[in-house]
Amino acid sequence: MLAMRSDNDSSPPMFEPDAEALPAEQLAALQTRRLRGLIDRLLAADGLQAGRLRDSGVTSGADVGLDDLPRLPTTAKQDLWDSYPFGLLAVPRDRVVAVHGSSGTGGRPTLVAYTKGDIALWSRMCARALAAAGAGRGTVVHNAYGYGLFTGGLGIHQGAIELGATVVPVSGGMTARQVTLIADLQPEVLTCTPSYAIRLGEALAEAGLTKESGLSLKAGVFGAEPWTQEMRSRLNELLGITALDIYGLSEVIGPGVASECIVAANGLHVNEDHFLVETLDPVTGEPVPHGTPGELTFTTVTKEALPLLRYRTGDIATLRPDPCPCGRTLVRMSKVMGRKDDMLVIRGVNVYPSEIERVLLGEPSVASDYLVVVDERGGGSDLIACCERAAGSPPGNQLRGGLEHDLRETLGLRVAVAIVPPGTVPRTEVGKAVRVRRWSGGEPPVPGLDG
Ligand SMILES: [Zn+2]
Repeated sequence: MLAMRSDNDSSPPMFEPDAEALPAEQLAALQTRRLRGLIDRLLAADGLQAGRLRDSGVTSGADVGLDDLPRLPTTAKQDLWDSYPFGLLAVPRDRVVAVHGSSGTGGRPTLVAYTKGDIALWSRMCARALAAAGAGRGTVVHNAYGYGLFTGGLGIHQGAIELGATVVPVSGGMTARQVTLIADLQPEVLTCTPSYAIRLGEALAEAGLTKESGLSLKAGVFGAEPWTQEMRSRLNELLGITALDIYGLSEVIGPGVASECIVAANGLHVNEDHFLVETLDPVTGEPVPHGTPGELTFTTVTKEALPLLRYRTGDIATLRPDPCPCGRTLVRMSKVMGRKDDMLVIRGVNVYPSEIERVLLGEPSVASDYLVVVDERGGGSDLIACCERAAGSPPGNQLRGGLEHDLRETLGLRVAVAIVPPGTVPRTEVGKAVRVRRWSGGEPPVPGLDG
């Protein structure tokens, strides 16, 4: 498959070119074989998913092909909660070598299980993502994702080792120590949440470490939070890197389900030889065409401990099958536009927080941290976008009015803008950034807005 790329191609090598650049027909044949294998395994495990398959008339993997996927039963987070902790296992309990979990937006824990084979698969998926960002043998990877039940830290850690890179397992927080380690170890790849990358970039700049003064970073692999193109521009400029998106969720395997290549930096290649991907209408559950936003839905055809058929993620994105200059044939997904659960309904208008981010961060005078408040103090629901002036941007009263105008034009909705003093918007050192809050009463007045 390497022959698909010309000899003078300077693209960084793929970790698994035989899989990542597989011609379409061969990929489809592999997916069909694996889907049938999954169905046979689920039926043999005789759990919840086996029951649903039989109810839909499937009694053997041989009954189905790829075209039948939209007719197969789906799974959702509720199934994991209902079967907590080990009810969905498709292997004997003693084959589970690790568990991970997520707190989830609803606050209830989700627990997922891995066999040795699952950990090996996950490591390879994260190695693919790091290689796609230009990392290889010996590349220093500064891994500032949190280590623990959360899949970010250990997922990237195992992937870096699988690739033969040199991983620095710094985890989140203790930013001053991170700055020292970056200065001393000269990493080329930074892995963390995009919100922490902003925090770290500001701390590096304060310490005098910039591209001009020899900051070593070349690429960032940022995930666990939805982020926009405008945030990408901020990260590229602040850190002097190519900021790349990585996508995953613990229910499917963790980070490494899909990731961007540094060649195009334009859409995340889905590792669809292991994770069949669909986009569904979030209301009807029917497949939507390529290019139309839909709910990402994954079928984990090779996972052992916790294989899931058509897992509905709640994340909204589009798919594009057009060829990528990097040579990968894997379909690309757009950045996640929002979560089904995160959609705000304000006076009958549907708004994703990412749409607000796009407007705010499109304005250079606005700092990169912001907070969207759903203000229910008056009995209705109004949106307030709280942001700070970027360091060095000129003072003036036009900023607030300009942003309010742009938000109204973009969203078709009035959003009040509060320019708050520097340091007012909460920062995140560990875990995911909180970008939306609901105020129902008792909250303090907003400086610059309430008086
Ligand atoms: Zn690519």
